[in-house]
Amino acid sequence: MIATLDRVAGRLAAASPEKLPDTLVPAGDEVCNYEYSYEDLFSERLRAASQPVTHLQVPLPPEYVNMSPAALDARIAAAKAALGTRLTILGHHYQRDAIIKFADARGDSFKLSQFAAERHESEYIVFCGVHFMAESADILSAPHQKVILPNMAAGCSMADMAPTDEVLDCWAQLADFFGPDHGIVPVTYMNSGAALKAFCGKNGGIVCTSSNARAVIEWALERGKKILFFPDQHLGRNTALAMGFSLEDTALWTPGKDLGGNADDALERATFILWKGHCSVHGRFKPEQVHEAHRRYPNVKVVVHPECVREVVALADCNGSTEYIIKVVTESPAGSVWAIGTEINLVNRLQKEQPDKTIFCLDPVICPCSTMYRIHPAYLAWALDNLVEDRSVNQIKVDGEVARWALVALERMLAIK
Ligand code: SF4
Repeated sequence: MIATLDRVAGRLAAASPEKLPDTLVPAGDEVCNYEYSYEDLFSERLRAASQPVTHLQVPLPPEYVNMSPAALDARIAAAKAALGTRLTILGHHYQRDAIIKFADARGDSFKLSQFAAERHESEYIVFCGVHFMAESADILSAPHQKVILPNMAAGCSMADMAPTDEVLDCWAQLADFFGPDHGIVPVTYMNSGAALKAFCGKNGGIVCTSSNARAVIEWALERGKKILFFPDQHLGRNTALAMGFSLEDTALWTPGKDLGGNADDALERATFILWKGHCSVHGRFKPEQVHEAHRRYPNVKVVVHPECVREVVALADCNGSTEYIIKVVTESPAGSVWAIGTEINLVNRLQKEQPDKTIFCLDPVICPCSTMYRIHPAYLAWALDNLVEDRSVNQIKVDGEVARWALVALERMLAIK
């Protein structure tokens, strides 16, 4: 299985990301290599398969599949002009340039969710990102606004690692072990489904992003004794270590195992119970790549995202959210050399926009976020053309109790300065 995935990764590495836009990535296809065991992979596939059918994308009409990049650009521009102020296009930093050039605002998931919460003028918010981001935008936007995800198959493998049944099983086990007054505050990273955000809201918990994880955890520790952190173990662990906690203060919860695979004393000792999830893009970065960057460029600065493993974060000069990475690189003097541990589309864009610096990705094997990459211009053109005809295709709608409790968790986060 790993060999098969490596071959897929090899094909991807052989193609530059700017050639891939001509190839529509079919719904459900995985093009990025994953570096976990067969057991982990199999279990992730099963869990992904249990996700709601909203992740399914209807096939594009052939006219869009066969359109040239120039024709797609013209269609998108025309639809955008026709919709005028009725439309806002949001573009995540990891989107390809062919999408970003049409974005009215670009940012990381936190910045874009703030945008959706504060700007209520447009009737349509077309979110060029992944599923959980569009869900958050829907929850935070006004009732008259419709949030559209151009390709429903644009999910997030990390968000899919924490399905509701396993989260509820974990919570029940913790209540059995510690008793009903366990004082555990659930915290979920923004990169999670609305159902998990709702679980946190309903149980006194909160959402965090990579920008505010520390402040959110401080908030949670003022209200409880322990943190149950979803779904990215690395952001949770790196934040705990940055706050002065030790590895012994953390326990890793493996879903599906008794007590998450922990001994009683390890669970009792832990302040942080970390869900065993990770990002398939940031999980690729290795300490050897940092050493190699230093070997090639003695004056290099290394900046990485906190979704990277702790060994990489420890070797980097600095780490932070996508917005932080952009800021620290942009504010550095001309002639600076930066090795960056984050998604390749953003790294390439930074190099293109700042030619007076040397900016490169820590990982020599190109690996875009395969799910972000599913927002191909053909899907954007198709979604916008439908909006021009007053048809809202691919609307993301989070309803009822899930929306209500997820909003509670999101608003707790947005209230933290
Ligand atoms: S970069 Fe990682 S966390 Fe972000 S959408 Fe892609 S898989 Fe999910």
